[in-house]
Amino acid sequence: MAEIFTLYPGKEEFCLLALHGDEWPAREVCLRARQALRCGAVVFNGKKRLVIFSSTPENGSPERIFEFDPNRIWTHQLAKDISYGLYLDFRSKVFWPIREFFEKFKAVISLHNNGKPKFSVRSFIDGDLKEFARAYVLANPQGERDFFIVTKEEDFKNLSSGGFSVVWQNPGVPKDGSLSAWFANKKRFISIETRTRPLNSADPRETEKIQLQMLAAALRSIKPRRRT
Ligand SMILES: [Zn+2]
Repeated sequence: MAEIFTLYPGKEEFCLLALHGDEWPAREVCLRARQALRCGAVVFNGKKRLVIFSSTPENGSPERIFEFDPNRIWTHQLAKDISYGLYLDFRSKVFWPIREFFEKFKAVISLHNNGKPKFSVRSFIDGDLKEFARAYVLANPQGERDFFIVTKEEDFKNLSSGGFSVVWQNPGVPKDGSLSAWFANKKRFISIETRTRPLNSADPRETEKIQLQMLAAALRSIKPRRRT
């Protein structure tokens, strides 16, 4: 089985993350930035959103598989459709290595592309994710699907004053298996949600360009330049 994810070590205090294989501009930006910055990164390697973990027990029983969304595994609860043995194997080979890797960094920046028209900063204002937001700023009504989700007030202030739409996540957020909920009151975490631009638009790399600008803003927020 090909490795389903890769951990890239880094010298910086933050690590980048690309969880969803079907969000290729986000992965592209993640890999390019990690090469340029020599920072740590966690990258899921497949091209699909759902990832297949397979496990062959030593007693000769047939191979078992568990199909999962990498942004729904961050919980201590057993998934409904998984046996305990498979769950333990999954935890030791996927969950724990990544979780321990995160421990090396003070901040984690996750890159997503958002292809669902209904998913936007508005989902946190008056939609079904209302209880996830402690505060929000809707800075760009034209582009409300380009936004940040943050766990720290400092990043909320920095990014919203930079003209971006930002959701400051409620620290008591329901644990839905997402990484932002997992890190809620544990770690400095920034999720960059960039709308997927259509490929037939005037500039086919527009999604990556916007995402790079958003990543640059996130990095300025966590690494302010020292005044001399
Ligand atoms: Zn995603």
